[in-house]
Amino acid sequence: MTTITLALSKGRIFDETLPLLQAAGIEVLEDPERSRKLIIATSRTNVRVVIVRATDVPTYVEYGGADLGVTGLDTLIEHSASWGATGLYQPLDLQIARCRVSVAVRADFDYATAVRQGSRLKVATKYVNIARDFFAAKGVHVDLIKLYGSMELAPLTGLADAIVDLVSTGNTLKANQLVEVERIMDISSRLVVNQASLKLKQPAIRGLIDRGYLDQVLISHDICYRSRLVRWGGACTGTRKCRVALGRARAVTAVFRR
Ligand code: AMP
Repeated sequence: MTTITLALSKGRIFDETLPLLQAAGIEVLEDPERSRKLIIATSRTNVRVVIVRATDVPTYVEYGGADLGVTGLDTLIEHSASWGATGLYQPLDLQIARCRVSVAVRADFDYATAVRQGSRLKVATKYVNIARDFFAAKGVHVDLIKLYGSMELAPLTGLADAIVDLVSTGNTLKANQLVEVERIMDISSRLVVNQASLKLKQPAIRGLIDRGYLDQVLISHDICYRSRLVRWGGACTGTRKCRVALGRARAVTAVFRR
């Protein structure tokens, strides 16, 4: 029996991938927030989940440590800019873990004037490639400072004039007296597939990708997760005919049901 390994990171991506797996009839048997296990079994004996750092998901999939993975577009862009994504196939936008990459500054920093006057800006970020491309396209000179976390602290301590970070509700910025001044790009999570797995191990995966999944599908109410469904543009009817837009449930179902 061929084992399928799915790489996920803890947090939003794991939480928002679970309903897709459940829709495919797959229960993940442990909660990675509570368990120290890095390989988690599922109710399907040939499907397992490996828990890796978000930034490592593309690497695991690219080099065959996992057949499939779910990763944010931000992570994918940074990964391919640094390493070149040669063994990765990126077939599906799962439309989960949605957020945006934005520029934020202290509320008392006049960003517009600084840009207009051609000032050189100190920008702290984990997303150095995205930030470099964005400011280069605007013709703004920047000194990029690479950070690995708590980006919001950088303008507050004088380390940087601005940050480039993920924003979802905007609450973290607000709590730290920062304001969003530019929206660089919208982000959602992608299903990525190892190219060798796609060709050799799971020819079924190719069928899934080639067909496209932009139509609506009907799913049973007990797996429809009303709030998510509505956010995704689906419709909860409380019956066996809840509709999922974009066919994400079907996409994942098709991968695992074959
Ligand atoms: P929020 O307060 O909702 O705007 O969320 C901002 C914080 O959550 C920042 O620290 C972001 O780095 C993080 N964040 C927001 N969206 C995501 C996401 N989709 N994936 C990972 N981290 C995120």
